[in-house]
Amino acid sequence: MTHIVIVGAGISGVTTAYTLSRLGYQVTVVDRHLYPAMETSFANGGQLSASNAEVWNSSGTLLKGIKWMLQKDAPLLLNPKPSWHKYSWLGEFVASIPRYRRNTIETTRLAIEARKYLFEMAEREQIDFDLQRRGILHIYHDKASFAAAGRTNSLLVAGGLERHAVSPEEIKTIEPTLQGQYYGGYFTASDATGDIHKFTRGLAQACHKYDVRFLHGMDVQAVEMTEQGVRLLLQATLDDKLSTTHADAGQELVADALVVCAGVGSRHIARMVGDRINVYPVKGYSITVHLDDEASVQGAPWVSLLDESAKIVTSRLGAGRFRVAGTAEFNGFNRDIRADRIEPLIAWTRRNFAIGTSRVVPWAGLRPMMPDMMPRVGRGRHARVFYNTGHGHLGWTLSGATASMIASVIARDCPRH
Ligand SMILES: Cc1cc2nc3c(=O)[nH]c(=O)nc-3n(C[C@H](O)[C@H](O)[C@H](O)COP(=O)(O)OP(=O)(O)OC[C@H]3O[C@@H](n4cnc5c(N)ncnc54)[C@H](O)[C@@H]3O)c2cc1C
Repeated sequence: MTHIVIVGAGISGVTTAYTLSRLGYQVTVVDRHLYPAMETSFANGGQLSASNAEVWNSSGTLLKGIKWMLQKDAPLLLNPKPSWHKYSWLGEFVASIPRYRRNTIETTRLAIEARKYLFEMAEREQIDFDLQRRGILHIYHDKASFAAAGRTNSLLVAGGLERHAVSPEEIKTIEPTLQGQYYGGYFTASDATGDIHKFTRGLAQACHKYDVRFLHGMDVQAVEMTEQGVRLLLQATLDDKLSTTHADAGQELVADALVVCAGVGSRHIARMVGDRINVYPVKGYSITVHLDDEASVQGAPWVSLLDESAKIVTSRLGAGRFRVAGTAEFNGFNRDIRADRIEPLIAWTRRNFAIGTSRVVPWAGLRPMMPDMMPRVGRGRHARVFYNTGHGHLGWTLSGATASMIASVIARDCPRH
């Protein structure tokens, strides 16, 4: 049986494992964490949003970014300290501006297609992940940002998305709990939200039915190409009573092919096999507001929102939880949860909704972002190394489609025997 090893048990790795195992491959997933979905797929914004498919490579975003760098509580923060990784990435980001239109349309198409796969997986495996199919509403405070949204909208529509402008009165009807004054909005009825962590854990559980093996608590230290395929050197990350692995036990894992789904770790693994995958960790934050009293349950929105001025997204995760996420921070692999970045998310929540914030769980995660904002899905330099990574701000949205894409490439280039 053809054996494929996948590095990474986030949403990209688990959807890839599930898809390949159903095609009849023998699959092993390796992750340094003890459970699936413990890194960026832990507590993100929750949006399954074709309506957020616009890539950031535009002169408008660049100008806004420069302005934001001078503002203390802005949604963008760049640590100017020199780093080759950061500045090479920013250079390639700027060089991708000419592909803004093409990449936005392509991402929209991919996001629309992805829903089909994701919903099919959830239905087939009966995964409860607090799915809400009530649409996503983008809100704008002034005429200029609403006009800019109109220009973006034409690209999303060209990608096949049904999305229309709404008036301030319609905003109130679509989401009655939302307070404040808005110039206008755009509504996408077909978009949805759900808990990425619950979904990934549920799908990983379902993978056991298809004999997928999970090696948790194992760090990939080296990858070597062999005549037959690949050899990975693994090192256990923990040595405690609950672990099934032991820290002194270096292990070898041999397989016919490798799929790198390692999120922000993908650049490092690609380098081990001579590929360049220039993923940069773009930090974001979320808060999960626990709706502990009846007034808060009633006061929190069910329709998902994107506030363009603050670059904040929201998702209702069942009756009792409300997720608010945002911020793009260029500060390397720093994972600190900074109080001064969490505070604006809480303030935004209190400004817009009549809900209590006495129990708020903060989180920070690193978006695995490519400079052109397009995921890398395909073969590497070696015939037996494949990539499904670099999904940036849209990994939850795109994962269903990219898992299917990489499975097709592998079925062609590394057929089952
Ligand atoms: C604040 C925030 C809000 C977001 N909101 C949304 C949203 O609303 N909608 C949306 O679509 N997307 C959103 N995203 C993006 C989305 O969460 C990510 O794109 C997605 O989770 C990435 O999944 P992944 O599987 O590629 O990476 P991860 O989930 O990070 O998984 C990669 C795994 O690889 C493992 N790994 C790496 N290197 C090694 C190694 N050497 N050895 C062993 N294991 C290794 C890691 O341990 C990790 O578990 C958001 C992100 C953030 C930060």
